[in-house]
Amino acid sequence: FRGQVTLDGPSGTGKSSVARGVAARLGAAYLDTGAMYRAATVAVLDAGVDPADADGVARTVAGARIEVGTDAATETVRVDGVDVAARIRGAEVTRAVSAVSAVPAVRRRLVDQQRALVAAAGTVVVEGRDIGTVVLPDATLKIYLTAAPEARAQRRAAQLGIREQSEIVELAADLRRRDEFDSSRADSPLRPAAEAIVVDSTELDQQGVVDRVVALAES
Ligand code: C5P
Repeated sequence: FRGQVTLDGPSGTGKSSVARGVAARLGAAYLDTGAMYRAATVAVLDAGVDPADADGVARTVAGARIEVGTDAATETVRVDGVDVAARIRGAEVTRAVSAVSAVPAVRRRLVDQQRALVAAAGTVVVEGRDIGTVVLPDATLKIYLTAAPEARAQRRAAQLGIREQSEIVELAADLRRRDEFDSSRADSPLRPAAEAIVVDSTELDQQGVVDRVVALAES
């Protein structure tokens, strides 16, 4: 396979694991665009800027150096030279990232950077929300990964080591809230591209989804 695979969809669908797995099988590079929005959020929080202050967010992100690697085997995420790979997964960043990524100037800047990284990477799997619709409209293969919110909450809970049922219900509610916010964004709504193949991972394990996407890439 040669070209770009876009892997879009809401959080908790196992998208990241699938994207890495597909990249490994195809011998492709891998770009996690969510990590870029999360890194931008670290810059905002560290600058003491309120994520709801769109002008402040735009200014801060314009002045930050955001580096995300495209090697499928290693995760590199830096803000102004500082490794933030662990921090971007924390609750503080997860709470603020939707507001930061809703700022048009932030999206413009990161989309430009994503296109440059993809051009340099060659054959690549790119994971995000708007990759097939906005970032790479001419991608070779577009996949949209979905799953029922309950299944997504279960998956998140397992990742975080949460077993309490009430906390899982809370996770599902948080996922729905983020979905709603992400899909209502005017300039870059979360939805499948017209040519995207929708893969539902509710009843499939990670290997099953990877197998299906690889088969589509190689067909
Ligand atoms: O995929 P991940 O959960 O790491 O993404 C974090 C957040 O970044 C999403 O909830 C969304 O608000 C934003 N995002 C985006 N566009 C992308 C990727 C992520 O707006 N292409």
